[in-house]
Amino acid sequence: MPKGHHYGRSRNRNYTTEYHRIHANLFKLLLTKPVGKYSLTAKLFTEEHQNFQLTELENGTRYLTFSINDKAHHIGLKLDNRSASNKLYITCPYCQKQRQHLYAIKYAYACRQCLDLQYASQSERPQDRLMRRIRKLRKELWGYDWPDVNNMFSQVAYWPKPKWIRWETFEQKRDKITELENKYWPTAIAQMKTPLGDNYMTDYKN
Ligand SMILES: [Zn+2]
Repeated sequence: MPKGHHYGRSRNRNYTTEYHRIHANLFKLLLTKPVGKYSLTAKLFTEEHQNFQLTELENGTRYLTFSINDKAHHIGLKLDNRSASNKLYITCPYCQKQRQHLYAIKYAYACRQCLDLQYASQSERPQDRLMRRIRKLRKELWGYDWPDVNNMFSQVAYWPKPKWIRWETFEQKRDKITELENKYWPTAIAQMKTPLGDNYMTDYKN
């Protein structure tokens, strides 16, 4: 996929309230029920998001299997025996981490972290902040109307020295921006690589 596509997506803000979620507590009863086929009663969910198979491993661990878009999604039930309340967690099919909620998206169930969702109250992500800072410093040197001033794919290392500034000062300022650019890319790329691949549908709401 071309980089530009990812880049565009990373600027979209997706809030968790736009998705339907399932809560771990919903499955507490299944810890003692017989294994077999079950169905969630959630009328806004597709049938594939509702129907699942409850299975138990030899060691007693139980998990649910949803077949969504011809792909098996395994969700483990993990009881936390350390806490007095015996809190139940469900595991995310993508990262296997224990979660209290999983979100229903078009072709999958996944946790908030895997979906890169943001709570409405959550502040700007660190690499967004870094990007703003890089752009600001670039504008101070090359001005607002420099063609690539906002283009994160262009690197200032190749940009010419403005006439008004002394070489020494220019190099100092430019190297500072380059340093920030080098910091920016690894985090930005990490975020673009969603483990969900095609399951991620930005247009899916409700
Ligand atoms: Zn996950």
